[in-house]
Amino acid sequence: MKHGKGLPVFQPDERPEPEAKIDQGAGSCADGCCLPSDGNGSGADEDAAPLAESGGSDGLERTVVRVTGMDCASCAATVERGVSRLQGVHRATVNFAAGRLDATHESGVTSAEIEQAIQKSGYGVEHPGEAEGASFWRQPRVLLALGGGLLFALGAVLALLGTPGVVSSAAYASAIAVGGLPIFRAAVASTRERNPDMNVLMSVAAIGAAAVGAWGEAALVVILFALGLSLQVYAVERTRGAVRALARLVPDEVLVRRDGAEYLVAAGEVSAGETILVRPGERLAVDGEIVEGTSALDESPVTGESTPAEKGLGEEVFSGSLNGQGGLAVRVSREAGESTLQKITRMVEEAQGSKAPAEQFVERFSRIYTPVVMTAALVVAVAPPLAGGEFSTWFYRAMVLLIVACPCALVISTPVTVVSGIGAASRRGVLVKGGEALEAAGKLKTLVFDKTGTLTEGRPVVERVAAVGGAGEGESLRIAAALERRSEHPLAHAILSAADGKLPEVSEFRGISGRGAEGVVEGRSYLVGSPRLFEERGVPLEAAAGELREVEDAGQTPVVLGTREGPLAVLGLADAIRPDAEAALRSLREAGVRDFVMLTGDAEAPARRIADKLGIDYRARLLPEQKVEAVRELVSGGGASGRGVVGMVGDGINDAPALAAADVSFAMGAAGTDVALEAADVALMRDDLGKLAEAVRLSRASEGIIKQNIFTSILVNTIFSLLAPFGLVTLWLAVLADMGTSLGVTGNGLRLFRRGGKPRQP
Ligand code: ADP
Ligand code: MG
Repeated sequence: MKHGKGLPVFQPDERPEPEAKIDQGAGSCADGCCLPSDGNGSGADEDAAPLAESGGSDGLERTVVRVTGMDCASCAATVERGVSRLQGVHRATVNFAAGRLDATHESGVTSAEIEQAIQKSGYGVEHPGEAEGASFWRQPRVLLALGGGLLFALGAVLALLGTPGVVSSAAYASAIAVGGLPIFRAAVASTRERNPDMNVLMSVAAIGAAAVGAWGEAALVVILFALGLSLQVYAVERTRGAVRALARLVPDEVLVRRDGAEYLVAAGEVSAGETILVRPGERLAVDGEIVEGTSALDESPVTGESTPAEKGLGEEVFSGSLNGQGGLAVRVSREAGESTLQKITRMVEEAQGSKAPAEQFVERFSRIYTPVVMTAALVVAVAPPLAGGEFSTWFYRAMVLLIVACPCALVISTPVTVVSGIGAASRRGVLVKGGEALEAAGKLKTLVFDKTGTLTEGRPVVERVAAVGGAGEGESLRIAAALERRSEHPLAHAILSAADGKLPEVSEFRGISGRGAEGVVEGRSYLVGSPRLFEERGVPLEAAAGELREVEDAGQTPVVLGTREGPLAVLGLADAIRPDAEAALRSLREAGVRDFVMLTGDAEAPARRIADKLGIDYRARLLPEQKVEAVRELVSGGGASGRGVVGMVGDGINDAPALAAADVSFAMGAAGTDVALEAADVALMRDDLGKLAEAVRLSRASEGIIKQNIFTSILVNTIFSLLAPFGLVTLWLAVLADMGTSLGVTGNGLRLFRRGGKPRQP
């Protein structure tokens, strides 16, 4: 099994990770060493199958396991420490929101050992074969919570029937023991890891209540807490699962054409360069390029757009897409494990686990807050009795204080919203790279655009050719096109498609970033590019002055062809404004973005024409490094001029440095271009400005929900904490308020996911 039929997302991240010291060299994954590392034991572990990737010379391996039942970031820390302490484990990181443990360890450590360590920390492991929903109902903590609930009900009935107190107390005690088992276990684990969390607070409160004889209330506290947590875990796991489920749409088997015959093989066995056949109504298993046929494809798993896209010869198609009526032959460009969809799923999971700045605030806050509450509870329990108050009354109040002050809701409020916001965005074809990006995009005030391919179509056409030297127009165009043949710039493509006839050979070609290109044709060296390129080389352009002015007056982009002696021709190119640009800017304004600035290396006139049309600021004639400088200026001026958070939109390929300089960067049309996918903080799969407004709106909504959640949790906590010492809150009311807020903020966060995405499949 090379790329298993199991969960594809189960594969270790393929991006090199320097600290992990994994040799990801091409040969490191030869057949055999990629097998699950559970080969040395119990058959029961057969499908635990966390994939281990064999390392290089240092013999380190990596295991990725799904951890279930984690309900807060502190549980993640507990699991992390538990696994890290295993002999031979070098590093373990747990991603709470993605529910993923990633361990780097020596080859002697088995997946069974890791699984055991996780279980000892109080959490479970999900096996690849298990269906998401089913595994939830089979989780021990859920069964225990339900069992505890039944025992509690039994106790309540017995009490109502008037049986002796001992009998009902016994039922309550067993309810505490059963329902509370996972809580106590987690409490012990977290204390042992010197990271006391809410499980500790709850355990202390329940045991304390039982100690003063309040068995019924102690049981109710435990059961409510256990059921509440289960519900919360269920909600979060379902949301996580929805994103993961997309990667599972991909078929296991493909029809591949080899030596003229067709074979049905496992998707993982098809390599790049092979040709596969896609029947009507079938989903694609790999990324590739159409070599035969046309069809309308629903690419929603990748682009978030379910309106089928008509595609034909030479066009790119993505794994996960649903083929329409036409049969296709597709040349594989990325194998099953490396498809765009896989990559996106992996990135989404990672992003969901990343911390938003608000979360860091919350964590700092809780670190101070929890000890303060503990001290306050101690004072409430001890001080009044010393002054003659009744011990059991004050002890009870102290227990109540412990519970109401538990920052459970506060701690979960942000990560849940991040999981949900990023998940919702991904369903719409917007990949947000983490909590930080989500928050920044939500606060966006200034948006900087790279002109070409962002505000314009990026498909310029040659509208005018004027010869100003010895050569004729056709000949000039051919020379220009020959030089541009090796250039990647959109202007180059335009010039190339405007020329006809056979193009001459070019030698000593050199692209000059943000300016143009040079090369030798038939023994003469030529320059092609912006007037600025000629100025910089000291080539006089007087002979072309009239033509350049005309090009300028027409609002076209000038491109000059010339030699070191002087210009030969002036070309005027025009790139249409995207038809959706105005609407997109309008919805961005509605979403709260105030300033728009277009940066371009183009000449003044065409830049002004576009900016005026769209009603935005612009800066023209910028060299690539000046674009970076301009973005930096806006960012550092952020506070003073009230520009706020500065975003930059580009294609992520030739504007990566400027993107990196912004507070938050957006890449358009990222599907299929790995560079763009990696480079930006927010990658828009489709080349569609409308997605930009959608991304900002969603981030803004997440930002709003994060604030609501934090505010509500702090408010409820404060109110109840103030009431508790006066005996105005009972234990069960305290748990109800606490779990109520936790579930409330969870629900509020997840609302974003349900509302946020129209489902990606029809
Ligand atoms: P933009 O801001 O439109 O993305 P670039 O920085 O990519 O602009 O390029 C700036 C200018 O440099 C272009 O408007 C064009 O005049 C010139 N230029 C760059 N590359 C080429 C090329 N390959 N051929 C002709 N002109 C070029
Ligand atoms: Mg550009």
